[in-house]
Amino acid sequence: MQYKRILLKLSGEALMGDRQYGIDPNRLKEYAKEIKDVTNKGIEVAIVIGGGNIFRGVAGASNGMDRVQGDHMGMLATVINGLALQSALEEADVITRLQTAIEIKEIAEPYIKRKAIRHLEKGRVVIFGAGTGNPYFTTDTAAVLRAIEINADAILKGTRVDGIYTEDPEKNAEATKFENITFKDVIEKGLKVMDMTAFTLSEENKLPIIVFDMNKKGNLFKLVSGEKIGTVVNI
Ligand code: UDP
Repeated sequence: MQYKRILLKLSGEALMGDRQYGIDPNRLKEYAKEIKDVTNKGIEVAIVIGGGNIFRGVAGASNGMDRVQGDHMGMLATVINGLALQSALEEADVITRLQTAIEIKEIAEPYIKRKAIRHLEKGRVVIFGAGTGNPYFTTDTAAVLRAIEINADAILKGTRVDGIYTEDPEKNAEATKFENITFKDVIEKGLKVMDMTAFTLSEENKLPIIVFDMNKKGNLFKLVSGEKIGTVVNI
């Protein structure tokens, strides 16, 4: 196995499936199965989940809402997604813990690094909710932050495209995919992998980012087994 401990980043939008909003239970089930297959191999899995399928602070602010208020709503949205994913995983007999950056102790544990690591060592999947706990950040930044804190080998960013391309492959069929790329090249070429805060935090801490298609069955498993899947961003 290529990795021992991974941080899987799933966007909120990924949970929508073919819907315009909210959570697709079938998509959740599929993800739970993919994650289970990886944990069965003894890989430690931590997950950060976004909230964009429910609410984004920026969208609220563009409609006149106070940005901080909107971001709080966005962070709560990630907790809703975290609970949904937790439920789907437990339905698949995967033991999980949800830890939140904002205390909601009746429904989740507060985020405690040492506890998170202990859960991982015991083979439990740990889902981190409520982002970083601070407004003006994204769940990509939360994912990088948690990955560094728990000493993950890499951050696996599951998307609906199978890697990083020279241009948006959904807009230009001529676009070609990178198998490997450096942090520096991503910035120089103006490619979008994560927001800058998340991206530079990852670079500074030499944490590789792998962008891959999470919707292709078996991809996550192949990736952690060492197959060339997606695009690897490294120093
Ligand atoms: N958010 C925040 N601080 C964080 C993480 C998230 O305020 O540390 C809020 C922010 O409003 C963001 C929303 O939560 O728009 C949902 O997160 P994100 O947009 O990263 O979700 P994704 O795009 O991955 O679905």
